[in-house]
Amino acid sequence: MNIAQQLNASARPLISVEFFPPKTGTGLAGFDLAAQELTGLNPDFVSVTCGAGGSAAGPTLDICRQLDGLGYKSVVPHCTCVGMSRADLEQTSDAIVAQGLTHIMALRGDPPKGQTHFTPAADGFRYASELVAFLKERHPGLCLGVAGYPEKHPEAPSIEEDIRHLKEKVDAGADFITTQLFLDNDVYFDFVARCRAEGITIPILPGLLPVTSLEQINRMRAFCDFHVPEKLKHDLDAAQDRPAKAERIGLYWAIEQISELIEGGAPGIHLYLLNKSRTAFYPELFACLSRVRGQ
Ligand code: FAD
Repeated sequence: MNIAQQLNASARPLISVEFFPPKTGTGLAGFDLAAQELTGLNPDFVSVTCGAGGSAAGPTLDICRQLDGLGYKSVVPHCTCVGMSRADLEQTSDAIVAQGLTHIMALRGDPPKGQTHFTPAADGFRYASELVAFLKERHPGLCLGVAGYPEKHPEAPSIEEDIRHLKEKVDAGADFITTQLFLDNDVYFDFVARCRAEGITIPILPGLLPVTSLEQINRMRAFCDFHVPEKLKHDLDAAQDRPAKAERIGLYWAIEQISELIEGGAPGIHLYLLNKSRTAFYPELFACLSRVRGQ
């Protein structure tokens, strides 16, 4: 069964973890440790982000190969349109399939550093929906994930319009949606209801990040704005000089979110662990994930 079929079957919630290709020696050491340790979490799939430009597909596929070698059940490369012509995307998707991978997260991608607007490559795609249509035509057997934004994509004038464009990705052939991170479950439940009302029926996997500090939240909100509940803000603020305490506050917040999301019918949890394994191996989070999977 592919990921979408497993999410649809909803026999039990799926757990997935996102990795990114490290860029420095320290980053590589952190990735190696996290990749080793998180095998113990036995995620149903892991995904690997893709940076800007055609050359970024190489590191993503290298990391996919490493994760595959560690025995992860299913490895999902991200593929973006940034700096990619149609020919580049043909080559990249063919390489993904030749590597034996059966899923792709199909994304438009963010503009490269220093650029504020997305400009498609010559003969490339402007929107992820075009990439989805292209991939479905070239590799009909692939299972495709796409991004969803419970608090709307920053460029979208309204959540209604953003969901209409999300529907275009679904109509083009997307099989499941993974959401941008959020800290307030109400925004996820509201988003799912709006998507269903728009006729989007595919699974919507919530993306969660166990936050570690108010500073981290503020850094992230610079490029993807999300609502920070007052209580979390207050508690993290009070723990500003105690990093270990702040980390536990973020961890418990994530645990609460996970329990409520699964009780509320979410088909699983996608964890943005930022190539770090320590948080996931806090016994409480591990126990919570085992509980929601019914293990
Ligand atoms: P799209 O779905 O194309 O949407 C982009 C914007 O265009 C939205 O505002 C949408 O409303 C609008 N739009 C869409 N279609 C139309 C249309 N026909 N007319 C007018 N407007 C339209 N980025 C990376 O660089 N690498 C990654 O690996 C990566 N992984 C991600 C994983 C997840 C789960 C998520 C949630 C995001 C990820 N991102 C990644 C970030 C993502 O690439 C950015 O948010 C990017 O700005 C939008 O990508 P998209 O695929 O959502 O684009």
